Amino acid sequence: MKSVSEPTYKRFITGPLERYDERNNAWSRADRGELPGPRSVMEKGLKTKAAKNVPGYTREDFALTFGARAVDTLVRKMTSGKDRQAARWPISVDKMPVSDTAKMSETVKKAARWFGADLVGICELNRLWVYSHWGHGAEIAEVAKWGDPMEIPKDYRYAVLIAWAMDYDDVMRSPAHTPCTDLGYAKVNSVAASVAEFIRFLGYQAIPSGNEVALNIPMAIDAGLGELGRNGLLITREYGPRVRLSKVFTDLPLETDKPVDIGIQDFCEKCTECARGCPGRAILDGERTDQPRNISNSSGVLKWPTDTEKCLAFWERNGGYCMNCIKVCPWNRP
Ligand code: SF4
Ligand code: SF4
Repeated sequence: MKSVSEPTYKRFITGPLERYDERNNAWSRADRGELPGPRSVMEKGLKTKAAKNVPGYTREDFALTFGARAVDTLVRKMTSGKDRQAARWPISVDKMPVSDTAKMSETVKKAARWFGADLVGICELNRLWVYSHWGHGAEIAEVAKWGDPMEIPKDYRYAVLIAWAMDYDDVMRSPAHTPCTDLGYAKVNSVAASVAEFIRFLGYQAIPSGNEVALNIPMAIDAGLGELGRNGLLITREYGPRVRLSKVFTDLPLETDKPVDIGIQDFCEKCTECARGCPGRAILDGERTDQPRNISNSSGVLKWPTDTEKCLAFWERNGGYCMNCIKVCPWNRP
């Protein structure tokens, strides 16, 4: 692995990049009834598979999903997209002076790992990655309304990117239903909430968020956690694509990490495991393109845009989640 001066996606930029509108992502479109959403997927699974006790789709498997989501829902509702103390005994504190930003970055990373993060990286916030408008996330975070413009105040210069690795054996169950998806969200959003609160008690501002507010993957690449793969996911050196992501925006003075080149761009040119292992035929097995496959994709970068319409159509047929594009990737190692 080598550190590089600019992220590896940069050499594939072909056109002007625009801020992504969250109202166009798959979950927002599911909210509008254009695509199947998690609710319809699980209702189908309960009716067609859990009722017959099909292994991998049992009532207990779906109960694990709902158990994990309870924590995730509460955490995101209370903390995501908000700069406000979560403590039951709010205390106002002065700003702790920061004379050594490198040391402060290490302190924040150590705290994040202590709260449960597997990987942590820090980047300067590129506002191009902040959504232009609230979509699905507005319903989760309950801090704005659908369609409101998204803005992060100017003094939030940095983002702390957090990854939590899902259990290898759980991921290998795919395409059977994988409740570790939900556990991943619960963990990674809890860590973000704790890191934000930690920063606030140093006297600085912090906004935690899960998939809401901004695009996690380009920010995680900027923060040196990995690279973009053919499967449209972040590929990390340590866990491959088997991670869930969250982040914290802050004005705490920090030293940033450099992006990395772990060889994914060349590797994915030759490897097509995820495309061949995708039961929904949603991943391209050919050349990169900068053309969107539907309104959920962004344009202006040569990559392999995933067709989320086909992906979610498979989830619905499956009656459960799918993680084949994580499972079959050679970078997903135990
Ligand atoms: S989740 Fe499954 S259906 Fe969707 S892109 Fe990945 S492998 Fe394909
Ligand atoms: S399976 Fe192969 S082509 Fe797909 S993301 Fe992983 S390394 Fe890249």
